[in-house]
Amino acid sequence: MTLGTPVERLSLIGPAYAKRLKKLNITTVEDLLYHFPFRYIDYTLVSPITKLQAGETVSIRGEIVSIKNEYTRRGRGIQKAVVADKTGEIQAVWFNQPFLARTLSPGKKVGLSGKVNWFGRQLVLISPEYEILGRTGQKPIHTARLVPIYHETSGLSSKWLRSRIAPLIKMFVPGLKEFFPPQIIKKHELVKLNQALEDIHFPQSQEKAQQARNRFAFEELFFLQLAVLKRKKNWQKHKLAFKFYLNQEKILNFTAGLPFELTKAQKRVLKEIFADLREKKPMNRLLEGDVGSGKTVVAAAAIYLAYLNDSQSALMAPTEILTNQHYQTLNQILSPLGVKVGFLTSSSRKIQTDFDCLVGTHALIHKRAQFKKLGLVVIDEQHRFGVEQRGKLIKKSQTPHILTMTATPIPRTIALTLYGDLDLSVLDEMPPGRQKIKTWVVPPQKRTAAYQWLRKQIKGKKDQAFIVCPLIEESEHETMQSVKAVITEKEKLAKDVFPDMKLGLLHGRLKSKEKDRVLTRFRQGKIDILVSTPVVEVGIDIPGATVMIIEAAERFGLAQLHQLRGRVGRSGQQAYCLLFSQTPSGKSLKRLKALEKTTIGSKLAELDLKMRGPGEIYGTQQHGFHNFRIASFSDLDMIKKTRQAAKDIAHKEKQYPSLQARLKQYTIKAIEQG
Ligand code: ADP
Ligand code: MG
Repeated sequence: MTLGTPVERLSLIGPAYAKRLKKLNITTVEDLLYHFPFRYIDYTLVSPITKLQAGETVSIRGEIVSIKNEYTRRGRGIQKAVVADKTGEIQAVWFNQPFLARTLSPGKKVGLSGKVNWFGRQLVLISPEYEILGRTGQKPIHTARLVPIYHETSGLSSKWLRSRIAPLIKMFVPGLKEFFPPQIIKKHELVKLNQALEDIHFPQSQEKAQQARNRFAFEELFFLQLAVLKRKKNWQKHKLAFKFYLNQEKILNFTAGLPFELTKAQKRVLKEIFADLREKKPMNRLLEGDVGSGKTVVAAAAIYLAYLNDSQSALMAPTEILTNQHYQTLNQILSPLGVKVGFLTSSSRKIQTDFDCLVGTHALIHKRAQFKKLGLVVIDEQHRFGVEQRGKLIKKSQTPHILTMTATPIPRTIALTLYGDLDLSVLDEMPPGRQKIKTWVVPPQKRTAAYQWLRKQIKGKKDQAFIVCPLIEESEHETMQSVKAVITEKEKLAKDVFPDMKLGLLHGRLKSKEKDRVLTRFRQGKIDILVSTPVVEVGIDIPGATVMIIEAAERFGLAQLHQLRGRVGRSGQQAYCLLFSQTPSGKSLKRLKALEKTTIGSKLAELDLKMRGPGEIYGTQQHGFHNFRIASFSDLDMIKKTRQAAKDIAHKEKQYPSLQARLKQYTIKAIEQG
């Protein structure tokens, strides 16, 4: 048996439980050992029975004197036991666990942990954690210690997990070899692997638990950074498909022909991109810019340069709506200059072959678009695409330049960690004339007033509004439940609140033709209020929309709210964002209030990082960002430390075979998780 042994082969687990474990992404012995507790209950205070006091959380050791099943008049089962040690007796009570009468039969030696309560004039332990104490010298795992609490799933309790993990630790952990070289262990004062595994599950003290957690946080961030460094090294071996020349005059013509002057930031970023495009190596650059900062025109300039060099380009966007919009924008800007822009999505019937630039969704990859001379690939909202997906467009022997773009405000530390292999350009300036979007958090009691205000805006100023409902489940895609919720909401609004207005409905389950129809009508002003799921988050451009209302705003990350807000006021009008909040509790209110004051996406992202942790900022699943077990992007010290450690070792990784083997496993997992 090895760490890679599937859990279903363990006699303690078997196929039925293995299925449940799968829900926690646990399939092997190693996965189970690396399923870390997220907290510990402190049952370390062990007390003789006579010394017990009401209100204390304690552990006792004793012998079962008697146990019986009783029933209340309503038929609820109560199990009452008397437990004794040398000093005295106490009653313990459980509910609806009739099997206990058999498990805890008289004479059994037990450990109990829980809270001591008054029951009438007697002290009792109500629903204490229990554990049958076996041979002497065997340490308890559920009582009289720091007891680990795990993420659970139905049919898998923390107690179950504990009682499976404990024997595995005994069996496997002593033989596990440390894979970090001694100098790293020493320099960073890391607890060794086998000790850390024991301490993270069954620590002797909170301090030991913390040291173990530190080690695993180090491990995760270290391997992530090492993997990124490796990716960078690999990229540098790629051969460029086509070398570009910069035709200054034509590019100046291009910018002169735009209906606006480029911002300073756009000019700077373009310089950086053009410098890359003239290199002999393929560009691999990330363009980060807030919603509305004008990334599309930057991409268009790069595409134009590719065209001037007789190369084709591809622009890949995550949704059909966005693809459509990019197609229209590029056509507008580029076709007068002779660039043929094509279009390909999964609903396209035939595959175009005559184009200079092909705009499309994932279909660009799946439908195997025919490129004759692919010189540039632009990827919009890149976090929606997996690394391997990108890989399919790119041959190592003939790599096009790659420009990836994102509007997700990423704190710099995260960008450097996750995308350390990319060069970073930031559009940190908005086009002129944009007004600050007035933002208010609206508590439940002001909802009616808010609706009245909206009515006035629409009637008087011909404003148009989005009302966005959150996804109901945490899932990357809209489930039927979320779609139903938005349909119900729209019907309710149409009937009770805005019967005299034109409401539209948008969600991901609509056919793409229907989506287009709805958006076109909205764009033409034929819809006053568009009720929608967060599908509008990414990039939709409706120049006339000025009001963004977000339901249950506390369920979104600040960065995501900021992106939603960026959908309105896009042609310079005064715009508004109303954040409806159902639970205006202290912390979540404070978080939302930040949106009233701050208009800079990256600042909001940093703030969310501090207040909620990175998973939630982006909705890790929703955006395919990295999912840590234990490390955190807000731990700047650890990020710095591990980056340096990874750099120190990257060029001599081959000297450490066990580390290398571990990195391989790690990378495979990371890719599987997307
Ligand atoms: P994003 O960065 O969110 O993709 P877009 O590229 O969609 O932003 O640009 C948002 C809007 O701003 C578009 O309508 C675009 O035409 C306009 N725009 C872009 N650059 C400028 C500029 N320098 N001056 C004025 N408007 C601009
Ligand atoms: Mg965009």
